[in-house]
Amino acid sequence: ANFTELGLISPLLARLTELEYQQPTPIQAQAIPTVLAGRDLIAGANTGSGKTAAFALPLLQQLHNNKPLSAKKSTGNYVTGLILVPTRELAKQVADSIKSYAAHFNGAIKTVAVFGGVSTNTQMLALRGGADILVATPGRLLDLISSNAIKLDKVKTLVLDEADRMLSLGFTEELSALLALLPKQKQTLLFSATFPEQVQTLTQQLLNQPIEIQL
Ligand code: AMP
Repeated sequence: ANFTELGLISPLLARLTELEYQQPTPIQAQAIPTVLAGRDLIAGANTGSGKTAAFALPLLQQLHNNKPLSAKKSTGNYVTGLILVPTRELAKQVADSIKSYAAHFNGAIKTVAVFGGVSTNTQMLALRGGADILVATPGRLLDLISSNAIKLDKVKTLVLDEADRMLSLGFTEELSALLALLPKQKQTLLFSATFPEQVQTLTQQLLNQPIEIQL
């Protein structure tokens, strides 16, 4: 299948042409229609598989389609799409990719990245008025929630990227604390290179009749 057949809308297709993405990678071919259909997803995926676009493209499309024009000026520090990642580097990289894929949405989708190791001030300012997509490392996100810089009550889609690394880096407690703050009803997408017991437990707790993709 090509990207058009996967159901993506023209502002995204135009951007993929500019980026010279000619064919979806196998994980994209399976994940994009699944996410667009609103299903939960577990995917075994390494870096280099194209996993970022596999969740970012359908997430952008859902947000763009569901965002009323009148809601341009959002109220409250809410986030709609939350992407949790294990490291600062990955947070920046994922946010940059999302901003690039959204190039033809004319600024309608606000993406913010927050991570530790830098001052919270700039991140708190960036979160004013909320965000459509927030890419975050768990510890810094909890700090920002404690200072009321952001609220998770209205999250519609949760993505766990590199879930195995997130747990092996010792974010288990932070992750439980964050998951407890999320609405019960949401779409959840979990990407992991490996599936040790900790990841399986998380999967069972968190995902609702997920579609499984193993490449
Ligand atoms: P990721 O696995 O998400 O880190 O992506 C690995 C690299 O592949 C990134 O540099 C992407 O820009 C690139 N990429 C992702 N999907 C495609 C595609 N369908 N065609 C060509 N390049 C892609």
